[in-house]
Parts: sequence; C-alpha cells; structure tokens
Amino acid sequence: MTADYSSIIDGKKEAARIRATLKEQIAAAGAKPVLAVVLVGADEASRIYVRNKEKAAADIGIVCRVLQFGEDVAGDELLDVIRSLNEDPEVNGIIIQQPLPKHLDAKVLVEAVCPEKDVDGFGPVNLGRLQAGYASAVIAATPKGVLRLIESTGIDLSGKYAVIIGRSNIVGKPLSSLLLNNNCTVTVTHSKTIGLKDIVRQADIVVSACGCPKLVKSDWVKDNAVVIDVGINRMADGKLCGDTDFEALQKRNIRITPVPGGVGPMTVAMLLENTWLAFKRQKENV
Ligand code: NDP
Repeated sequence: MTADYSSIIDGKKEAARIRATLKEQIAAAGAKPVLAVVLVGADEASRIYVRNKEKAAADIGIVCRVLQFGEDVAGDELLDVIRSLNEDPEVNGIIIQQPLPKHLDAKVLVEAVCPEKDVDGFGPVNLGRLQAGYASAVIAATPKGVLRLIESTGIDLSGKYAVIIGRSNIVGKPLSSLLLNNNCTVTVTHSKTIGLKDIVRQADIVVSACGCPKLVKSDWVKDNAVVIDVGINRMADGKLCGDTDFEALQKRNIRITPVPGGVGPMTVAMLLENTWLAFKRQKENV
C-alpha cells in the first residue's frame, strides 16, 4: 500500500494550530507571560534549541529571558539565580537547558526550580504528581506532545497496548504515567530488554525514544498501529532521522510521525502551553 497523506501524523501542522490558539488566548487576556531560560556554555545544539524557543515564544506573545552563563559557572551561583527566579513575580516559567557541563548536577538544579514554575515538568514534584494522576502536575513537554499526536489520530486510547522504547526521566517514564492515566496498558522497554522486536510487534501504539537510528523496522510493527518517533539522530550525511525506518513504515497501513516535523515542533508548542498555564495558575493564586 502506498502512503496517503493521512498515514503521516503531521506534528508541524498540529503544533502550528496549538501555537495559533495560544497566541489568541494570550492576546485576548492582554497578558505577558515570561519564560526564563538558564543556558550554560556554548553547546551549539543548545543555542539553536534556545533560539527556536525564543522565536516561537515571541511569536505568540511570551517573553523569553535567556540567562547565559559561562561553561565554568559554579553550581552554587546557578542555585542562587534559580532561587531569585523562583521569587520573581514577573517570571512564570523557568527551564534549565540541557545538557549541562559535567561539573554541574542537573538533578540538583532542576529540583531547585519551584514546581509551579517548572514548565519542563522535569522536577520530582511534577513527575510524582503526574504518576499519581494529580491535575496540578506540569506534564513534561515531549510526553505531552506525544499524547496530543496520538489523540490527533482519533484513536480511542482506552485498553490499547502501548510499548515505549526508552525509560528516561524526560520522555519514557513520564510518558508511561501519561498513557497509563489514559487507560492504556503500558510496557516500558530499554537497552537491557530481551526480545524487543516481539514486544513491539504486539503494540497498538509504539513510541520510540531511544536515540538509535532506524532501530524499529517495518516487520516490528503490526498493521493499523500508531507509531510516534521521538528520536532525533544525525546521520553521517548530515541528515536527521528518527528511531524508526520511516521510509519503509510509511508505506504500510499504519500512522507514523516523521523526523523532522513530528514530535520536535510539538515539544516546543507544549513548553509554550505549559508557560501559559503556569502564568494563569499564578495569577489565580495571587
Ligand atoms: P536517553 O539517552 O536519556 O535515554 C535513552 C533510552 O533509550 C534509555 O532508557 C536507554 O536504555 C534506551 N535505549 C538505548 N538503546 C536502546 C536499544 N537498543 N533498545 C532499547 N532501548 C534502548 O535519551 P532521551 O530520552 O533524552 O532521548 C531519546 C531520544 O529522543 C534522543 O534521540 C533525543 O535526541 C530524542 N529527543 C527528542 C525530543 C523531541 O522534542 N523530539 C525531546 C527529547 C529527546 P537504558 O536506560 O537501559 O540506557
């Protein structure tokens, strides 16, 4: 079967729709939400990610304050900065751009961000709230975007078997809670999983977030499955690819996200949505 448009889950289009709605809501409220980004060092990929976030934020009326620090900044100095951002009533969201230089402990810094401003949803309080199904949880942007993309296909999640490849704190683990809370039956797999192919073959929903180029082959996926590819891998020729064999899979009777143009744009849109939600909650609590 040749792919028709509907077999491709278009993250770029979905993200643009979400950003347009946010822009309208922010303008209608006459609001100026502020997102603070703590950026350490000169990692080129991080700078590009931050520039993209800045641009996307500005376009919908969110002010992005980038706080840039040198590669050798001390952890204590960053902790002081985070504490003052926590207390600044003008700042609604705080993110720590990762990766960080080796001498800094990302867990300590992320934990220092107060849960109400932790718009990445990476801190232990928000991860715990999500796991326990609390409505107050700030849901990490990538898993939240993955859920929206699955929902955009119109499938009923209840009772579906979801297999997640990858168990990181920013994708696999929070996504497992999110899908479980939406009544999926969930298996989380990782690099030590035995028989990965046979597990994936059973899945109605496959989410791959392992950073292994084209790991998931066409014969790993059953007909009618929904495949969400979170992976971003740079090939030898400089091109990006995901964790799935997209070329082969898109010809099948399944729905799949491309890389780029799938989860990536949704992650940015969800970060902006989290900042807007944080702004609204903070104003209600004043
Ligand atoms: P991590 O490196 O933190 O985690 C990778 C996970 O994949 C680990 O749990 C690891 O297992 C597992 N894994 C690695 N190799 C295999 C394998 N061969 N089979 C099964 N599982 C395997 O990565 P992240 O979660 O941060 O990111 C994953 C990918 O998603 C990357 O490509 C990243 O660039 C991309 N990404 C994309 C985003 C987007 O917006 N599109 C956002 C965030 C990430 P173990 O725990 O045993 O080591």
